[in-house]
Formats: sequence, structure tokens, C-alpha cells
Amino acid sequence: MRNSAAAKLSVPAFLHPFAATGRSEFVSLVAGHGSTVVDRQGKEYLDAIASLWCVNVGHGRAEVIDAVTDQMRALATYNTFGQWTNEPADLLACRIAERAPMADARVFFTNSGSEAVDTAMKLARLTHSLLGEPDRVAILARDGAYHGTTYGGTSAQGIEVNRAGFEPFVGEVAHAGRHDLDDMARLFAERGPTVAAVLCEPIQGASGVHPPEPGYLAGLRRLCDRHGALLIMDEVITGFGRTGRWFASSAEDTRPDLVTFAKAVTSGYIPLGGVIVGTRVRAALEADPDMILRTGFTYSGHPTAAAAGNACLDIAEHDDLLSRARSVGTALSSGLHALLADDLVSEVRGEGAIWAIDLPDRAGRSAIDTAGSLVDAGIIVRPIGPSTLAMCPPLVITDAEIDRLIDTLAATLAD
Ligand code: PLP
Repeated sequence: MRNSAAAKLSVPAFLHPFAATGRSEFVSLVAGHGSTVVDRQGKEYLDAIASLWCVNVGHGRAEVIDAVTDQMRALATYNTFGQWTNEPADLLACRIAERAPMADARVFFTNSGSEAVDTAMKLARLTHSLLGEPDRVAILARDGAYHGTTYGGTSAQGIEVNRAGFEPFVGEVAHAGRHDLDDMARLFAERGPTVAAVLCEPIQGASGVHPPEPGYLAGLRRLCDRHGALLIMDEVITGFGRTGRWFASSAEDTRPDLVTFAKAVTSGYIPLGGVIVGTRVRAALEADPDMILRTGFTYSGHPTAAAAGNACLDIAEHDDLLSRARSVGTALSSGLHALLADDLVSEVRGEGAIWAIDLPDRAGRSAIDTAGSLVDAGIIVRPIGPSTLAMCPPLVITDAEIDRLIDTLAATLAD
């Protein structure tokens, strides 16, 4: 340890997110290529969670590294407030708008998914305020939702353990049952014309991979239309190809007003997120062309991050990662359903290339312990809650690697 102050501690100076505060042992990673990451001792791991649901193009892609390096040499950083802009950000905004699940969109950039969610919540409230309905402030979210960890996202998320101790939250946020349209309708009825927006992941990820029931997303759209509310789809995990479509919310008649994204837009190589802004919000924001949009971040539209985003879009197109997501999904689904048929897991859920399994009660082993055994065997999956393991591999994962993942899961679960 270089730092002498840190050397006196029994734990490292680096206070890790979502980790035990007294943890002193960590796996230090030094390299990555394709679907593999390598630790300091040279041990290789199959990264079946794509870091944290993000490295769609795989690790170590020279195209991204070159694009980032070239951009850094030309202009590493500059803000985009007011008059300033840069070509990579302009280009990426156009390319994202072209692929958006709504027509005539514009794109606002952030650094992370959490900032994207906060910004979408602010834009929803601002839209109604500009349209003369300042009392429309309520945000309706869902049990089990994960929307990040800034105050907007913490307030909107429906995973209680992530909220405990952080109160008081952003006001006027309420939660409906996970797939329960009637419960959402009840929240609308109770709040009358004060609902600004519904906020929804098309597939709930961090609470254990829960795809929507057929018709659920279209049902949310209908509720929003009936009550004059906006629909925000949080596509931080699902955006940029994970389900075999650029955005998951284009599957049903969802027509979102705002879409949040992050993660796979740059495959996590450089932090980048954003909000896709549809026509209803645009109309409010642009009604007075002199109005200053007083929100944003020092690094919104960061040229180097945008260069990484453009390189990742090039790869997704060149390698046809949307089709690959569908075939990865088919292979994962059949492998995981074979584990179900063998009674090694109690439930399999997923869509496209994002899946989860539940461990049976009789396994007598927690998801964390099982994920630990899998790490020993060179496989990284994500333990979620007491008994769920999630998988969301790079879309470049090979068929042989998927076989290895399923075989190692089978051997570990049978153990
Ligand atoms: N929204 C969703 C659906 C997410 O899954 C996440 C992170 O996993 C976030 C928001 C927050 O993104 P970030 O961790 O980049 O702030």
C-alpha cells in the first residue's frame, strides 16, 4: 500500500460501494479481453455479468480504446453548457435519437444511470410546470424497482434495503406492486391530477430480473394517457441491445415520453448516461426558445465519453450484436431451463440476454455463498437477494463460454 495513512488501517482506504464496510479482502482485476477478466494472480474469470450489466461489446476492444485515445489527443474534455459543443457528442445524440423508441427525440447527456433518472424526474416535473400544471409532481414507481442511488433514484427505487437509513426522500414518490396494473390505477385514482410521471424499468434488473407480464407496459401507457402523466422508461440496463432490440420499450405499444440510458452506451469503458426526450417534453421545453434549461453536469456531452459511445455503436452494428443478443438469450434460456428440469434451480426468468435463476430452499446455501463458489470456479455471476443469481454476459460471449457457464452452474448447484 503506497499511502502511509492507509497502511495503518486494517481495511483499505478505498471505501467500496455495495460492500461490507469491514471487508479487507478484494479481488484486484488487472486485465480483460472478450468475456474474460484476469486478476492480479493471473486467474481468469468468465464475466457472466458484463461488469455490472454493461460491457456488451466485451472487454479490451481496440476500436474503443483507439477512439478514446484519438479523442483525448484531439480534445480530451470540454463542457457543453451554453454555446459549446463537440462533434462526438453531436453525432452520438443523433445516432441515439435515430434508434430511440419514440420519434423526433433529442438526447440529454449525464455521467451515470442515477443522474439520468434524476434528470428524467426533474424534466417530467418541469414539463408539467411549464405547461401550467405545477401541482403535477408525483412520480409513481414500482416495488422491486432499481433506479440508482442519488436521492431521486433512492426515492424512486422499490428495494427497501437500499433505502433504509437514507430518509427523508424526495417527496411525492409512491410505489405500486411489481406487475400490478390495478395497484398503479389505484395510485393514479388517489392522486388525481397530481401525477407527473410513471417511472418503470422494462425488465426489472437489480431486484432479480423480472420481465413484465404481456400487456403490462402498454397498460402503463394507457394509464398515463388517461391521466395526463408522462411515461419514463428506465433502460439503463436494457438499452443498447440487451434484449435484441436497441431499446426494450419498443416491444409493446409503450411510446415512452422519456427514456433513461447508461451502461452499454459505452459498454462502461467511460462513464456516460443520458435521457432521450420525446416530443411531448420537447414541446414544453422548446415553447419559449429563450428558456434556459437549468440542469446538467460538468461532463454532460463529454467528448471522450461520447467517442467511446460512437465506437460502441459502430461495434454493435458491425458485429450485429442485436442478433447475437437473441442467440445468446436462446442458448442461456435452454441451458438454464435444463437446470430447472434437473431440479437444480426453482425458477428461471429472463428475456434476450439477461437472465436469473432462483436457488431452491432445500439447497441450504445462500446466493452469496453460491456466487462465491462460482468465483472459485472462475465464473462471475451476480448474487441478488437471498436466493437469486443474475446473468447478463457480454454479447460477444461465445457458445463454448455459454456451455462452460451452464456446466459450471450445474456442477456447483449439484455439489
Ligand atoms: N437504473 C437502472 C435500471 C439500473 O439498473 C441502474 C444501475 O444498475 C441505475 C439506474 C443506476 O445507474 P448508475 O449505477 O450508473 O448510476
